[in-house]
Amino acid sequence: MLAVQRLSHSFRNGAEATPVLHDLNFRVEQGEMVALLGSSGSGKSTLLNLMAGLMKPTQGHILIAGQAIEQMNENRLAEFRRSHIGFIFQSYELIPHLTVRENVELPLVFQSTGSRERKERALALLAQVGIGDKAELFPSQLSGGQQQRVSIARSLITKPAIVFADEPTGNLDTKTEKEIIDLLIDLNQNSGITFVIVTHEHEVACRTQRILHLRDGYLIEDSRQDGAAG
Ligand code: ADP
Ligand code: MG
Repeated sequence: MLAVQRLSHSFRNGAEATPVLHDLNFRVEQGEMVALLGSSGSGKSTLLNLMAGLMKPTQGHILIAGQAIEQMNENRLAEFRRSHIGFIFQSYELIPHLTVRENVELPLVFQSTGSRERKERALALLAQVGIGDKAELFPSQLSGGQQQRVSIARSLITKPAIVFADEPTGNLDTKTEKEIIDLLIDLNQNSGITFVIVTHEHEVACRTQRILHLRDGYLIEDSRQDGAAG
């Protein structure tokens, strides 16, 4: 599903290049739920943004469903991202003047799906993430946890091959955090969605099947755990 090969990245600042990721190699199989764990500044968001095609790496390859995304031109990549990649942000990134349902439908508008099908799929997903009764409200009328559920539904509407989440519970209290992780685990186990979830919290990472641990841009641990997701 995802292969990262000899991936390195540096940020340029004038003549200076600051290396942030160093020769990373790993694969994520279809249906896996992976936590990308590391302390602040270890390179988690940079790696996630590279894997989601939001930035181009300095070196190496990123293959999603067998296709090297770093080699695609801008138009091809934008199209590929819209149809194959889902993304969940810490700050939800919902559009305030659109209803919950319209927010969830939005990725399909760019794929010119008919309005009736859009509506049906959005309502079904909203029910699946537990807020079927909030469809016609606006984001500001929802709690943080509910807004993140909207963002999760939106990330799934195009039936992506893989979904990336950057600290999806970073703005939430502990109880709501647990509910959102429960939801992601349920979507992984019952709908087979492949997730890569960035977190700096060990307790969150321990609930996934597999932990990729980054420190100072190096992959220092890649461990599979039995009996996680409980
Ligand atoms: P994390 O998400 O693990 O906190 P980041 O990937 O955001 O880490 O950042 C990793 C390192 O890269 C940090 O030292 C950060 O300052 C640096 N960095 C991140 N984004 C940029 C950028 N756009 N330009 C320069 N340096 C950056
Ligand atoms: Mg980050």
